Parts: sequence; structure tokens; C-alpha cells
Amino acid sequence: MQKTVEPNNRLSPAIVELLIRERSKGKSLRHLGRMFGKSHEKIRQLLAKYGPPQVGLLSENKVAAKLGYPARWPTKLRKQGIIKPIKPGSFWLYSEEQVRQIPALITEARKCKQCGRPRPAGSVRFCRECNQYRRKHKYESLSPEAKAKHVKRCLAWLKANPERAKEIRFRAYRKYRAKQGRGAVIAADDRR
Ligand SMILES: [Zn+2]
Repeated sequence: MQKTVEPNNRLSPAIVELLIRERSKGKSLRHLGRMFGKSHEKIRQLLAKYGPPQVGLLSENKVAAKLGYPARWPTKLRKQGIIKPIKPGSFWLYSEEQVRQIPALITEARKCKQCGRPRPAGSVRFCRECNQYRRKHKYESLSPEAKAKHVKRCLAWLKANPERAKEIRFRAYRKYRAKQGRGAVIAADDRR
């Protein structure tokens, strides 16, 4: 049998060698598919099976481990199309150049939405300090629209509950004076 493609769809070693050589020159899977009369998917499978081990390429997990990130960070970059590794077999593989780019990309993608400093793992939008500040200063952290809505609601409530509003204002006043270290003056005022 001198056919290059055998009935069970295996290629002769010479053809495999040619395929690998052409691929290493940078030919696309589609181009190779046309050259060898196969689908690009078939070419990809053949290269994964017979091609040289991908030297210098790292899997996603290894990239994350090497850089000290949670594995999902590079995954997210890839899914967002920010970094484009290759997938010759069943794993995504990153070149050394891509691995070098990843820390800067991660820093950019993981900026705190408020202060721009890097977010630690587990924080979704803001860094730890900003989260604490936002929890403590809820009003300050609202969007302008949300602030306007809040003010409107408060004014309506104050109008509907004048007695309670008066109590609250008085309590706030006392608290304010106490904070100023004039508690004694207040007490004196109260006695009058
Ligand atoms: Zn922050």
C-alpha cells in the first residue's frame, strides 16, 4: 500500500513529519487542512497526537500556580478574550510571552472600582478598605441617582412624621454636643 492515507485514517510517518514541519513554520490549521485534504479539527487532533510536546507552553493551571494566582484568574482573562492562549489538544496553553503579560493584565482587570488599587482574591468589585468604607458610609457610597432617591424618601418621611422627626433631631443634637465634649453643658441645659 503506497497510499499516504491508510484506510483507518492514519497518516504515514512521512506525512506526519511534513505536517509538523509545516505547522512549526506557522501555517494555520485551516491551511494545513486544505493541504492535506482534512478538516482543521482533524489536523488539530493529529498534531495533538503526533506533534512535538509543546515546549515552553504552560497550561492554565500551571500559569496560575507559577504566578501565584487562583486558577480562575487566568481563566477569566481568557473567557473575556483579554488573552488568547492556544488549544492544540484538550488544554489551553500559554506561551512564555503571554505568561509574562498576565500579571499586568490581572492588575488591570482586578482594580478596585473605587480607588483603583488591586483587589485581593475574593473581593468582587472593591478592595478591602473601600468595602469597609462603603459599609460604614452607605449614603456616601450611593450613586448620585440613588442619593437623590434616598433624600426624596427621607423628606417625605420627615413630613409624614413631624413628632418623630423632632425627637430624632434632638437626639442627634445631643449626640453631637456630647461628641464635642460638652456633655456637661447639655446636662445643664436639660435641667433648665
Ligand atoms: Zn479601593
